[in-house]
Amino acid sequence: MEAFLFSHPEIWPQRSCGLATEPGSMSQRSCVYFGARYVLGPVREAIHLVHGAVGCGYYGKMVRGTPAPLFSTDMREHEVIFGARQKLYKALVEAFALNPEARGAFVYITCVTGLIGEDALTVAEEVAQKIGKPVKVISCPGFSGSSQAKGHSVSYKALLELIKPLPKAKEPVVNLIGEYNVGGETKVLKDLLGQIGVKVHLSLTGEASWSRIETMSRARLNLLFCGTTAEDFCRAMKKAFGTPYMKVSFYGLKSIAASLRKIGAFFELPETLVEEVISHGEQQVLAKIFPWRRHFWGKKALIVLGAHRLGPQGKMLKELGCEVVAAASIFGKDNNHKEATEVTSIVTDNPGDHELEEALWVFKPDIVLTNAREQWRPVKLGVPVLSFPQPKDRGPYAGYVGMINFARDLYKCLNAPVWKLLNSSLL
Ligand code: SF4
Repeated sequence: MEAFLFSHPEIWPQRSCGLATEPGSMSQRSCVYFGARYVLGPVREAIHLVHGAVGCGYYGKMVRGTPAPLFSTDMREHEVIFGARQKLYKALVEAFALNPEARGAFVYITCVTGLIGEDALTVAEEVAQKIGKPVKVISCPGFSGSSQAKGHSVSYKALLELIKPLPKAKEPVVNLIGEYNVGGETKVLKDLLGQIGVKVHLSLTGEASWSRIETMSRARLNLLFCGTTAEDFCRAMKKAFGTPYMKVSFYGLKSIAASLRKIGAFFELPETLVEEVISHGEQQVLAKIFPWRRHFWGKKALIVLGAHRLGPQGKMLKELGCEVVAAASIFGKDNNHKEATEVTSIVTDNPGDHELEEALWVFKPDIVLTNAREQWRPVKLGVPVLSFPQPKDRGPYAGYVGMINFARDLYKCLNAPVWKLLNSSLL
């Protein structure tokens, strides 16, 4: 087995982001509709209604590991033939009656309704007129893009339409854009930014409600977290509302310090205050992680995650003393890959099942950072896995608190007694 694999050194050929999955490849990608749910699912004060087969509803009811309420029109065979506009109308009116506090609705168009060309826009207008609240149609049939990225894009366009023009706040107020609060990061970031005197209006869509989105133009600066999903939105907000944006990262000590300094300079905050916060945070981290550090030196890590995580998580691993042997994204943008090349020379996109397994045999990592779907393959081969989104007893990994949590979880993962029961990795 080994001889065969090493005769194929190009185990992970560099593959650009955004390419369609090759037929026959067992891709880990989700569909466009899933991407829309990922961005919009947690938006509060909104009705979320999926117009399509009931299975799409099931697929979209958990978002980032948390239940996200969703109605479905549960389309049946005869409705696929004759359409289901009346059913959609009735479902929307009923959903508004059940949720009088909702300020509007999102209607998701999935494969079936996309294929038959259901005129959901007309229904949305009729309901909006009757109820007096906006209804946004999100066109996200699963087949309409090569990955969930298209779903992010159509969702952010819909969110942009909700924003009202408002005068800018006098104090330093920011929005967190493309920050998804997967493991409680929003609170950590609010606390950290609060230490330098910066307030957070909302986290889009880590902690977002319809009314907070409507008023987000009052923030003086947008902090862009996930450029893969949200950079176009930031550009559009700058054009429409004059809100500047800056790319930031709060993963790893160097990135946190650089981001705090950039934000401090933008708002002309006292340099001494910013430097104090950085120095205090770094000291806390170094003191806490000291006992674990020797366990990380030279450990080989393999990362298979969404593209925007490759660079940040890789940098955290490197700062702790690990070596990143290779990284793969499920989908993303080529600039994410560029960032990932700062931590490893082997970067690819959308590896299939077979390629993932081969990579385990070839790279022989001591730990794998991957998502919930992919975690079982390395586990079965005896390789520890740190999975994302992380369970509630792990993380969050943003900020100084996050760096400590990451080191703790990495230590616990590498040294879990279960690996001793296996005697050694099967690789
Ligand atoms: S691929 Fe189509 S049918 Fe399947 S969950 Fe996505 S939208 Fe629904």
